[in-house]
Amino acid sequence: MKIIIHGGFFSESSTNAATKIAKQKALSEIVRSGYLYLENHSALETVVYTVSLLEDNELFNAGIGSQIQSDGKIRMSASIMDGSTLKMSGVINIEDVKNPVFVAQKLLDYEDKVLGGSGATAFARKKGFEVFSTEIPQRKAEYEAKLSGNRQGTVGCVALDKDGKLAVATSTGGKGFEMVGRISDSATVAGNYANTFCGVSLTGVGEDIVSGAVAAKIVTRVTDGFSLKDAFAKTFDELQPIDGFAGAIAIDKDGTIFHQDSHPTMVFASFDGAKEEVFG
Ligand code: ASP
Repeated sequence: MKIIIHGGFFSESSTNAATKIAKQKALSEIVRSGYLYLENHSALETVVYTVSLLEDNELFNAGIGSQIQSDGKIRMSASIMDGSTLKMSGVINIEDVKNPVFVAQKLLDYEDKVLGGSGATAFARKKGFEVFSTEIPQRKAEYEAKLSGNRQGTVGCVALDKDGKLAVATSTGGKGFEMVGRISDSATVAGNYANTFCGVSLTGVGEDIVSGAVAAKIVTRVTDGFSLKDAFAKTFDELQPIDGFAGAIAIDKDGTIFHQDSHPTMVFASFDGAKEEVFG
């Protein structure tokens, strides 16, 4: 059993040493909670649970603490993928729900698996997800001060369960100040992808991640025989011509855990039952 999570990028310009320590502590606690959950649950159940913990923590830009868009509203995106069934589901630009990842999970049972905008929000209401504002005063202040370019990130989780199954989940509040209707990478196969060989979750500039088809490329390369390390190296090399801004976490079917970022610093934590690694 293995688990790795990320909480987006740590932006030196907008955060301080105390925030860094708080993020390290939160990620360490959450990755261990996720691992405990994994002992009695599938990889798929675990990535949903673990991402919901990250969404509930206002230090991270997903769920509570999400960034505010250019019109003053919060719209969130999240997706999950079950590596063993190859089913992916997600929501794009959903409004006023506490945990977008739970709505994404609900959609896995439906033929129409990725819903956007008002359709996603209406589906959530129909399924009993209550109206919940995820806005916090700090984000409101940032919005009012028009502090754009504040890359707070996204959250994600990859898990490998005791049956050798892989799953991935990713959730974001977007980049902040984006145009209404802008689509993040987080509910696309560039930002969130898994099969029986490997699972990958991304954070960074959504446009760069989509241009680089990053998660899908890494998973495809591992499927075709690359090691995780080589698949990451080649895929990140291909981001260089566009100075792509991305960070990714992954686990392969043999339990190799890997992460890489193109710019300092993606915040992450991993745990395999014995060894914990937390960004430093
Ligand atoms: N990838 C997210 C987006 O572009 C934001 C981030 O991860 O920083 O919406």
